[in-house]
Amino acid sequence: MYRTHNCGELRTSDINQTVTLTGWVQKSRDKGFVTWVDLRDRYGITQLIFDADRTNKNLMESAKKLGREFVIQVNGTVIERASKNSNIPTGDIEILVSDLTILNSSKLPPFTIEDETDGGEELRMKYRYLDIRRNSVKNNLIFRHKVTQEVRAYLSLKDFIEVETPYLIKSTPEGARDFVVPSRMNEGQFYALPQSPQTFKQLLMVGGMDKYFQIVKCFRDEDLRADRQPEFTQIDCEMAFVEQEDILETFEGLTKHLLKVINGVEINSFPRLTYDEAMKIYGNDKPDIRFDMKFGELNAVTQHKEFKVFNNSELVVGIAVPGGNNYSRKDIDNLIDWVKRPQIGASGMVYVRCNEDGSYKSSVDKFFDQDDFAKWAKLTSAKEGDLICILSGKKNEVRAQLSALRMELAERLNLRDPKEFAPLWITDFPLLEWDSEAKCYHAMHHPFTAPKSNQIALLDTNPASVKANAYDLVLNGNEIGGGSIRIHDKNTQALMLKHLGFSEDEAKEQFGFLMNAFEYGAPPHGGIAFGLDRLVAILGGQETIRDFIAFPKNNSGRDVMIDAPAPIDKEQLDELGLKTK
Ligand code: ASP
Repeated sequence: MYRTHNCGELRTSDINQTVTLTGWVQKSRDKGFVTWVDLRDRYGITQLIFDADRTNKNLMESAKKLGREFVIQVNGTVIERASKNSNIPTGDIEILVSDLTILNSSKLPPFTIEDETDGGEELRMKYRYLDIRRNSVKNNLIFRHKVTQEVRAYLSLKDFIEVETPYLIKSTPEGARDFVVPSRMNEGQFYALPQSPQTFKQLLMVGGMDKYFQIVKCFRDEDLRADRQPEFTQIDCEMAFVEQEDILETFEGLTKHLLKVINGVEINSFPRLTYDEAMKIYGNDKPDIRFDMKFGELNAVTQHKEFKVFNNSELVVGIAVPGGNNYSRKDIDNLIDWVKRPQIGASGMVYVRCNEDGSYKSSVDKFFDQDDFAKWAKLTSAKEGDLICILSGKKNEVRAQLSALRMELAERLNLRDPKEFAPLWITDFPLLEWDSEAKCYHAMHHPFTAPKSNQIALLDTNPASVKANAYDLVLNGNEIGGGSIRIHDKNTQALMLKHLGFSEDEAKEQFGFLMNAFEYGAPPHGGIAFGLDRLVAILGGQETIRDFIAFPKNNSGRDVMIDAPAPIDKEQLDELGLKTK
């Protein structure tokens, strides 16, 4: 037996017991006549003591030679510590060692295995197995395990069945490029890795599984934006015989359950906004509602004077920054520069100071009067002491710009408390979105999403106005889940594909299997998928998903530890029938 106890469990009640422990040498302190070693494993740290009075000479010598991260086994007796350490649970005891076996030596690690390490990101990724020994990474992985356990338990209790679906499939369009895998046995043909198990979970509903979930890897070959991974994990779910309301209720339940058991937070309010409302109030379809700063649309009260900038704008919109009247002229100039950065792209910003005495002072005093400002203040809910920031221009652009400013201000004002959780649903997404480059419509969610039933006819006359039975779950300004009620009859699916620009043959070739299945008694169904990596990060009070993935890829999609992707040799290429340039 390698060990009788782990390094986190011995207490004063174990004093005088003979024990065997194994672990890594965290650090050792050699004081000549006594050597202390901190022995570490996943469970904690236990102090070992070797002292000249009680330990034989050979053993003393071996103890002195132990290097950091050596793997050792010790036998010894649990004794009371002379100077106790109340910072760790084992801090009242130590082990007086009688035997020491070096199970494996270690090279000096390239960075310190401490909470505050001296290793940079790239180095820690290269030696991720050492990084995982650090508390922060280790605890994040344990936290992720707890969340997935809870998800499995909750959904199983609600009669969901976990079913595995294949990874080697045919392309399912979810808006990204596929990763493809050449088939050796079918030369010139390729599998695609699933962007999600979408069509399979729908086929499981046709198969009568009724309620399905899977914690599943998905693969999307996207240009990597910050904090995206080419492979990521979804909690993928589907239910038969449901309407949108059933799904929202079920997954509101899951979200509340997780927040309660994982974070100890009771959620009493679970608001819903339509997509149109969210865009109008927050300029964004994933609003962070932990703080206000709601948009006030000001066209009606700003376009009656000679101020051309506003008069020529499709949208004039403002937000009230709480306490912003404190900002100095320099602070405000800095904000103006911030919105004018190319990443944000505003052409300028108008501001109004709301003074404590109820008067206003603005950058457009030449054009507008106190009555005008009072109306603006009302529409943006600005109070005395606030600052109103106003942007104007094309509707979609201005909304995006002001939404970015809102988030930036919230960050600066510390309004984004990671311990506070504010989930909400966004519903009634548009079915289609116009791709101005490709000059065609794309499905906003995916091609299997059902339009609102009374709006199908609009597909011919005003496709952009058609709304879908599609919804997103948003938590603290992040989209953590999205789904829809699906089309479940062949004709509607064929019509949808036609509107997305598929010819009849293309539709049949790509989605024939699904449309055939719809001819054999497909039940009405719908579902949702949560992004597990992001959900775990947010519940863990952080926003970087990499920190919750055991072996993540870097921003260029590389695994720097195993050095992938990598070329393959010619023989392998030949066998696969692939040629290089
Ligand atoms: N398959 C969808 C996605 O990955 C989720 C869903 O519609 O259930 O976003």
